Amino acid sequence: MNFLKIFVRNLVKGPSTIPFPFAPAWTPERMRGRIQFKLQSCTGCRACEQVCAPGAIRFDKTPEGLRFMRWHNTCVFCGMCEFYCPTDAISQSDDWHMAHAVGEKYGMAIREVIPYIACTGCGMKTLASAPNPVGVAPPFTPEEIEQQRNLCPACRKKALAERGVQS
Ligand code: SF4
Ligand code: SF4
Repeated sequence: MNFLKIFVRNLVKGPSTIPFPFAPAWTPERMRGRIQFKLQSCTGCRACEQVCAPGAIRFDKTPEGLRFMRWHNTCVFCGMCEFYCPTDAISQSDDWHMAHAVGEKYGMAIREVIPYIACTGCGMKTLASAPNPVGVAPPFTPEEIEQQRNLCPACRKKALAERGVQS
């Protein structure tokens, strides 16, 4: 009798599953999906690389600069990289559309390079990374971020000291 009740109820209610990919699927709130990376906001601190337990993130020094690489198929979506990133350069989206053929796995990786530049203060070769905002008061303005990006670490410190910023 119980079985019949359940059978009729389910028949009236219809299927609980979605016939994906033939119908659109919903995304749960707080879904932890594909990692996004904003090169312009990256300080090159490598904190994300250190906290990534499966080794999905790797930085390499190349002749062009510091190369960021993130392997989609190694990521376990733990969110640690986002949690420890001081600038929100790395974040988790709710995009879960990541199924792909094995041959496409290299195309799925994120590869971006923070380039070397000549410091506009002293001419020394340096990385054009974003400045680290942690502990800087008052906070950086967008103009200061761009100014700091073009300076080497020593000139960055000097520029901050000249305007009375504690860092
Ligand atoms: S979400 Fe976790 S596993 Fe994925 S890249 Fe970030 S730290 Fe690594
Ligand atoms: S700024 Fe964020 S994305 Fe860049 S190296 Fe540091 S933790 Fe990683």
